[in-house]
Amino acid sequence: MPVDPVNFSGLSRRSFFRLSAAAAAAVPILTEAHLARAQQRKFNFDAPPHDAVRIDANENPLGPCTGACATISSLIPEGGRYDYDLTETLVSTFCELEGLKTDYVLPYAGSSEPLHYTVLAFTSKDKPYITADPGYEAGMYAATLNGAKIVKVPLTATHAHDAKAMATADPNAGVIYVCNPNNPTGTTTPEADIEYLLANKPKGSILLIDEAYIHFSDATPSLDLVKADKDVIVLRTFSKVYGMAGVRCGLAIGRPDLLKKIQYFGMNSLPIMAVAAATASLQDKDIVPQRRKINTDIRTETFEWLAANNFTFIPSQTNCFMLQTNRPGHEVMTAMAARGVYIGRVWPIMPTYVRITVGTRTDMQKFQVAFKQVMNSSTAGFQPLELPARLRETPFTHLS
Ligand code: PLP
Repeated sequence: MPVDPVNFSGLSRRSFFRLSAAAAAAVPILTEAHLARAQQRKFNFDAPPHDAVRIDANENPLGPCTGACATISSLIPEGGRYDYDLTETLVSTFCELEGLKTDYVLPYAGSSEPLHYTVLAFTSKDKPYITADPGYEAGMYAATLNGAKIVKVPLTATHAHDAKAMATADPNAGVIYVCNPNNPTGTTTPEADIEYLLANKPKGSILLIDEAYIHFSDATPSLDLVKADKDVIVLRTFSKVYGMAGVRCGLAIGRPDLLKKIQYFGMNSLPIMAVAAATASLQDKDIVPQRRKINTDIRTETFEWLAANNFTFIPSQTNCFMLQTNRPGHEVMTAMAARGVYIGRVWPIMPTYVRITVGTRTDMQKFQVAFKQVMNSSTAGFQPLELPARLRETPFTHLS
């Protein structure tokens, strides 16, 4: 059965009941914003006000490109229509640009959904989830819901995924998640390592390659592996370089039989403004190089300032990097928030590092002022404030 990105008419009765069972186990689909918010709640500060410096959730302060904004505005009066053809246009535009067949691409409202569904589809209590550490955690939560064992494999000394260790982490692996470039480190994994992993992974497992940040970096995209019909699902999002995190659009790219398995867990009509804005973003040939340069320039300036001030960081190729705080990272997050600069998050394996998102030049200047003040101040007597009940009760407080 070919995968139809727009409707469910191809789903059999059996599939429909599997779909219902999956829906019964429905849980929040975690995005970066949920994870950032969970740590803020845990450490007792409210969500950043809109006028704060918000460099805590890997958002793009530039927002959608001009063509995307114009498209969104022009479509507002059409908002009473489903206009499925706009979703089809997004898929065909992406496929033409990337040389893919249209049944290899499924569109979603962001890439968090297909990430979650892929983990639900290919892990189980007998099929573990393998991920890098530190890595992007959303898939781990989906694996937990599935009762799957989670194996965290530390990054290598160069902060790449450890292909050899991941390939042999568990002989029954269901999903091996590779985030390239990685969140939170912004570091890349060489093409040869991904190919090694693919060639040596346990039979029956799939590689889930998350390319949310690929446009900022020199990493080699893995779409050729999809074209070669390998056991690979690649995720792309419009939330990062294209600045559409709040508009919501993403893609799952893989062999039709793999996509069919994730489709069971949920498909919905997509907001017409989101898909049309995504198409407009793809059609703007300048947007990726322009934004990549803006991000690289501001990141480089920030790194130069950090180095000049003897702060330690992990060099990154994306819009985020890990910064050494030499004390519990959460303390620094809290102290920075008190100065109106929201940073984060902290990963348990690197407790004295905090992730910093690269914001605008003004954001990063404010970050520098606040960070220097915080690092110069003594932490003696630091007391985490008691969490108010209102915040303790959030469904995300179990996340750290
Ligand atoms: N994957 C990674 C590695 C991310 O960092 C994010 C968001 O920050 C996502 C996926 C999901 O993004 P979205 O659902 O906004 O497309």
